[in-house]
Amino acid sequence: MNTQDIIQRVEDHYMPVFARYNIVLSHGEGPYVYDNDGKQYLDFLAGIAVNVLGHAHPALVAAITKQAGKLIHCSNLYYTEVQAKLVRNLVAVSGLDKVFLANSGAEANEGAIKLARKYAKKNNDGKFEIITAQHCFHGRTLATLTATAQPKYQEGYEPLPGGFSYVPYNDIEALKAAVTENTCAILLEPIQGEGGINMPDDNYLQQVRELCDQKGVLLILDEIQTGMGRTGTMFAYQQYGIVPDIVTLAKGLGGGVPIGAFIASDKVASSFKSGDHGSTFGGNPLASAAGNAVLAAIEEEGLLENAKTVGNYLEKGLLVLQTKYPKLITQVRGKGLMLGAQLTVPGRDIVNSCLEKGVIINCTAGDVLRFVPPLNIKRVHVDEVLAVLDAVLASL
Ligand SMILES: *Cc1c(COP(=O)(O)O)cnc(C)c1O
Repeated sequence: MNTQDIIQRVEDHYMPVFARYNIVLSHGEGPYVYDNDGKQYLDFLAGIAVNVLGHAHPALVAAITKQAGKLIHCSNLYYTEVQAKLVRNLVAVSGLDKVFLANSGAEANEGAIKLARKYAKKNNDGKFEIITAQHCFHGRTLATLTATAQPKYQEGYEPLPGGFSYVPYNDIEALKAAVTENTCAILLEPIQGEGGINMPDDNYLQQVRELCDQKGVLLILDEIQTGMGRTGTMFAYQQYGIVPDIVTLAKGLGGGVPIGAFIASDKVASSFKSGDHGSTFGGNPLASAAGNAVLAAIEEEGLLENAKTVGNYLEKGLLVLQTKYPKLITQVRGKGLMLGAQLTVPGRDIVNSCLEKGVIINCTAGDVLRFVPPLNIKRVHVDEVLAVLDAVLASL
């Protein structure tokens, strides 16, 4: 099928919820993807912070190919060695105790919300309320879009589940004031991704942790975007000197194979009993093999260090562009390979011009250019993106 036919067929038959770019991708290699007509793109979006190893990474391809030839799926009625390895790996990197494997970010958060409520029912006299932050993003299921304190994701889906309240992000006083006798958990992204790469002050998350401890409230961190080495450590919370009660993961965990996870302390996880939660696909052998391969590659290829150093290099380059185009870029922010450039104009045209010139980035929150490339990119790739961005900004 040619490009136009493919686009037309998807538009004819797919529910009209996505605003897609007019390109048809066929394959990828390393940090590059190729469209149906053979055009090359440098991928600094990585499937929205998913392809942490880039495309067609040999170790990931080998791991899932091998697993597919043995056992793709068998349900959670049975044990598998790949799942045993994955949960052990996740416990080791998180500093927490027990894992549940799901299939997506929303599902991981949905499970974390259920676990927090269950814990509160058993230990805290029926507290049920969860506080989240404005401009957050936690997913598209009914509970997670309610947790997502942005009206544009909620409108038309009322009645929404009860028990959620919202505070401004990075405002500890507002959070203190919002905790009530019904509060069972606070759910936050350590750095807000979809909301515009919004950074916490250095001591905010520690203050949140202290507040939770004082009030007997659980701290749930949504590391679906920040986790898996994105910010230069396996989890962002490791840079803020805290450990949450529950952390959620997805995006980068399978390197592109759908998988999500929530990981909790024993104290919290033990409130789940047999039958309290479940998933047919969650943590199946194929997805588990992918998760293990990604974790092994992050370790063996030094990708945490790479995310830090190449991330700093990209940040410096963006700051140079800010100096050069102060009327267009007013701030560069983020950590590791999760960076944003705050624009004074909508980002859509810049993203489209970059795409024409063979560079994939995206714009989030309307006016923030977002850079979440594979964690194994090199400086030459950063140079390529900065050169294209420079040319695009110069033309405005
Ligand atoms: C992407 C994202 C989600 C939702 O993940 P899905 O896999 O799309 O359900 C939740 N939280 C954060 C922080 C995300 O970035």
